[in-house]
Amino acid sequence: MDTASIETWRRIEFGRLPGRRFDEASVTDNLLFTLQNQVPGLLTYQSNQVQERDSGADWEWWIGDDQAGWICLRIQAKRVYEDNTYRMLKHPGAGEDAFQYDTLIKGCNPDQARYAFHVFYNGWPEGTFEDGTYWAPPAQWNACPGLSSYKDCKHAEPRHYGCAIISTLDVKKLSDGDAAAPAAGRFRVQRYLSAAVPWSYAFGFPPWDRKRGEKRWHPRLDRGDWVDRVHGTLEVLTRRGGARGARDASGHLGEIPIDRDHRTFVLPPYVEAMRGSAPGHFEPTSEDEAPAAPQTVIVERKRK
Ligand SMILES: [Zn+2]
Repeated sequence: MDTASIETWRRIEFGRLPGRRFDEASVTDNLLFTLQNQVPGLLTYQSNQVQERDSGADWEWWIGDDQAGWICLRIQAKRVYEDNTYRMLKHPGAGEDAFQYDTLIKGCNPDQARYAFHVFYNGWPEGTFEDGTYWAPPAQWNACPGLSSYKDCKHAEPRHYGCAIISTLDVKKLSDGDAAAPAAGRFRVQRYLSAAVPWSYAFGFPPWDRKRGEKRWHPRLDRGDWVDRVHGTLEVLTRRGGARGARDASGHLGEIPIDRDHRTFVLPPYVEAMRGSAPGHFEPTSEDEAPAAPQTVIVERKRK
């Protein structure tokens, strides 16, 4: 996932050169293609026949299996623009919702392990914000569980924020909190990056100390099972402190209370239909099978 982030960063950075254009849809396609080749058990389905265009989601992810239950993420992707803002956050919502992020939040419920996230596609030349770094000070660096700065952190490098994940509840707080300000100040990247982490972190923070090895989790931890880890991380990112909370809790994410019973055990008809068909283009055979988002990603745990 970090490789996919750096690739995204490059595409957006070079998209700023004169005569070049950055194509958002091709970046998403590329990302999903990369992931499919890297993550075992990950399947992607694309559909033009989306029933609820009103879900506000570009992607929907289903993570888990039939025994452990399923966790759902709805994701809205937003790219950075040359003025260093996510200016399309102003996109209005469906029906009476003021903004698209309101619609996205409405369709999710953390009590049912259904979470709303934004993924920001980032990329700019080194030195854009500060000499000698890709990072965008004064944004806070929350990628280091050891509390090092972006200059010293060995856990992540700034371009891992090429795909940065942030709870949509935090996006709403940041956007609404400054509603009177002009878009150039309101949607500037530094405000949002302070509450975001590289998207791979949504699936588990790295260990504090690199010397302990490449394992994602502290060796003293009861790492629990994979679905529990993802669930615990999303729970903290969503409503127990956000990116900063997840960083601080990275040493004991195995102890975050989660309610396994609240996961989904009966998948929506379109997800079941997808599981029964080959990945790629998905053609619904009935209205029930119309997906909630143009891209659906299923990450099913491989049975041992
Ligand atoms: Zn670090």
